[in-house]
Amino acid sequence: MVNAGDRRRGHWDRAKETLSASGRRRYQGRWLTRLLAHAWERAPGVRRRLEAAGLGLGDVRDEERLARLPVIKKSAMPDLQKADPPFGGFCTVPLSRVRKIFFSPGPILEPMGPELGAWHLEPGFYAGGFRRGDIVLNTFSYQLVPAAHEMDEALNLLGCAVVPTGVGNTEQQVAVARAAGATGYVGTPSFLMTLLQKADELGGGRLAFEVAQVGAEPFPESLRRVFQDEHGIMARQGFGTADLGMIAYECAEGAGMHVLEDAIVQICDPTTGAPLPAGQIGEIVATVNNRTYPMIRFGTGDLSVVDDGPCPCGRTSARMLGWRGRADEVTKVRGMFIHPRQADEIVARVGGVARFQVVVGREGHQDTLTFRVELAAEAAPGRITPAMEGAIRDVMKLRGAVEVVAPGTLAEGAKKIADTRTWE
Ligand SMILES: [Zn+2]
Repeated sequence: MVNAGDRRRGHWDRAKETLSASGRRRYQGRWLTRLLAHAWERAPGVRRRLEAAGLGLGDVRDEERLARLPVIKKSAMPDLQKADPPFGGFCTVPLSRVRKIFFSPGPILEPMGPELGAWHLEPGFYAGGFRRGDIVLNTFSYQLVPAAHEMDEALNLLGCAVVPTGVGNTEQQVAVARAAGATGYVGTPSFLMTLLQKADELGGGRLAFEVAQVGAEPFPESLRRVFQDEHGIMARQGFGTADLGMIAYECAEGAGMHVLEDAIVQICDPTTGAPLPAGQIGEIVATVNNRTYPMIRFGTGDLSVVDDGPCPCGRTSARMLGWRGRADEVTKVRGMFIHPRQADEIVARVGGVARFQVVVGREGHQDTLTFRVELAAEAAPGRITPAMEGAIRDVMKLRGAVEVVAPGTLAEGAKKIADTRTWE
């Protein structure tokens, strides 16, 4: 039995997780250099990308110089793999050493190589409170996709036993969780809620879950509070993709996802691939220290923001502040990307808005940003306008105007962000 305080304390690898900024740069520079040399020899797909960018092996030794390599888009993978099957020349080991081959729509294939722990999921499970001796229900899909398999391996390395239940069959999952005395859960947050409700409905006492690692969908704070307050479950989320594995995880603080030391995450301009300063929204572009399948500057198509301020847990890595939508939904205003989800956040913060539309326009050589809002019946216009202007500054890092319009002005089903700029 692990006590709840112990689940919040400690590190999987204290030295690595508390590196100074310069120590982290050196650590990442070292593995990046070694990884590229290894891939240059054994993964012709990686070598072709470097050569096409006019780069030699010695040209990419740190994060800054890595940015010279163009981002590889996920959408390019099917054609690359078709041209050089099965893995597009990105796999460094012969097929005889590949343990599993995963398949994503596209189609895109991903290999699991011979080494254990290549996906670096252990620090995230530890930070999320999983400990040796936990019995963990893994409800992610085991069919074709890698997440469940990678997680099982990491949990075993932590000393946890896995019950591989996979997706669906809620009643049976509740019965299995009870019979096994499962203390941990892995899966989507919504399915955890489904299991807890089903357990209530069936009677027979509470499930024994104490920790949960959730992912693959947004995880609202309201749901996290329900897990914690009503069920005593410490639920933490991670961010990953099939191609990269999990690259960021929450600690006990639950305020942003620490980026792995074995991943170099750059938040980039989705059109040019250039890294953006901390605090700006952009595409998550990652390079992961996976020696079997080295994805170098892989563009996920997902948006996030990074906070490089200190975290009370003592880990020193920057934190990704949640998933902020897809890169193909962003609009650039005065050099900053804005996203419909940011607009939702602004409106939710201020309250009193029945409907809204963000209009991006152009006056002279300046972009303009205007929130057109229809107020709820009880809302006071005198309060809404300044509150909203403040929220726009906080969330979008831009100055924006607020225009209150009469109810019924905004068209039903209109786009949240309307870009009216013309560029003739
Ligand atoms: Zn932390």
